[in-house]
Amino acid sequence: ELERRSRTDGLSGLNNRMATEDLLRQLHRRARRYGESMAVLMLDIDHFKNINDRHGHAAGDAVIRALAQVLRAAVREVDVAGRYGGEEFVVALSNSEAAGACAFAERLRAQIARQPVADAGGPIPYSVSIGIAMLAPGDHEIESWLKRADTALYQAKQGGRDRAVLAAV
Ligand code: GH3
Ligand code: MG
Ligand code: MG
Repeated sequence: ELERRSRTDGLSGLNNRMATEDLLRQLHRRARRYGESMAVLMLDIDHFKNINDRHGHAAGDAVIRALAQVLRAAVREVDVAGRYGGEEFVVALSNSEAAGACAFAERLRAQIARQPVADAGGPIPYSVSIGIAMLAPGDHEIESWLKRADTALYQAKQGGRDRAVLAAV
């Protein structure tokens, strides 16, 4: 139980950052060994500071929990979903090609955009931006892979948010 708790994020119930990186490293090693295609998604809630300012910190927490629930329901047993930072999440998709990963990201984005979070003060609409990076031969460690997803996420923000961008290889 202590082991499980040390790997779980208390607010979202998802893998915490450490556990996410550990699981991602395992999938990364296996995908490289067997030459499998793999995608990593980095998600960040759009204008989350405004949500906190407008609805309060507790409502912000409710949005994080709701997003976590969407992610839990969306990923398969073999995938990984984790809370990577305050309002930043990572999803890894095993055995996934770019087209499938992009379709998955777009489905997530659309589902989130049309599913406001119920709050005492009324429904809270929110959106996420997503960066997608395919595992590349040069990704000897997960860091370079995550970095490309983060750069794509930045491009999604720059492009107007509420969108998914696939990183250039
Ligand atoms: P952007 O669209 O560019 O991502 O804008 P943003 O406002 O989401 O980004 P910014 O990094 O400015 O703000 C993130 C906010 O997330 C600030 C911080 O207070 C809030 N935050 C981080 N962790 C938590 C948490 O656990 N609960 C709540 N309620 N807020 C959190
Ligand atoms: Mg952020
Ligand atoms: Mg944000």
